[in-house]
Amino acid sequence: MKVMIITGASRGIGAATALLAARAGYAVAVNYHQNKPAAEAVVAEIVRNGGTAKAIQANVAVEPGVLALFEACDKHFGIPDALVNNAGILEQQMRVEELTEDRLRRIFASNITGPFLCAREAVKRMSLKYGGRGGTIVNVSSVAAKTGSPGEYTDYAASKGAIDTLTVGLAKEVAEEGIRVNAVRPGFIYTDIHADGGEPGRVDRVKASVPLKRGGLPAEVAEAILWLASDKSAFTTGGFIDVSGGR
Ligand code: NAD
Repeated sequence: MKVMIITGASRGIGAATALLAARAGYAVAVNYHQNKPAAEAVVAEIVRNGGTAKAIQANVAVEPGVLALFEACDKHFGIPDALVNNAGILEQQMRVEELTEDRLRRIFASNITGPFLCAREAVKRMSLKYGGRGGTIVNVSSVAAKTGSPGEYTDYAASKGAIDTLTVGLAKEVAEEGIRVNAVRPGFIYTDIHADGGEPGRVDRVKASVPLKRGGLPAEVAEAILWLASDKSAFTTGGFIDVSGGR
């Protein structure tokens, strides 16, 4: 049975990816930070459908959390075949004059340092160079990496720009070691990440700017993640799929 680690999988895009991955036959390490009941509910749904999953608590924005996640996965399922760097945070809209060092450190720790450290741990286990059997890494970026989110979330957009560069660079670095690295760039997706982040009316304004005139569903992003994680995308590395309604 193939093994997939998904960070931040207790809700939203991560939870939808966990459900789809389990249906595709992966044993899923469902990482969560704080919401144990939500993670356990995802695991329970997978098990009810005949799949295999385990909820693993870890703060993947810091190195001890990343190490704990991978060690727990080693113990329960063995070496992962796929890593989905999904965990990420978005904070309240803010212009550059208001940004504090603390906020920048929080955003970058969750959105780029954590994924980088998770990728490092995955490479150590997957690389053919160290006797691994290869694998795939899928990073969850954002269309914000390209638009920059001016006046709203330039810090978040910059962190996603960094994950795009990580995707391209790491893909080349480990290609000959049997590891492929790709990313999805969601546009506006209906999840709780938007709960405290925007001014009233923002959702309608964003939707109006989407050529397909709607927000996306977590399951629509999960489909792209699963394709990139699977052998069906065997000739794709350093690649991006925008799931953004054309935005
Ligand atoms: P969400 O807030 O529902 O899910 C994110 C999950 O990550 C949460 O469960 C959260 O607890 C977890 N998380 C955050 N920091 C963590 C940490 N340090 N350790 C462990 N878990 C942590 O939001 P979502 O929309 O499902 O977001 C998933 C990914 O998609 C994020 O990387 C986000 O930036 C990206 N994204 C979302 C949208 C959107 O419109 N929803 C658009 C573009 C990109």
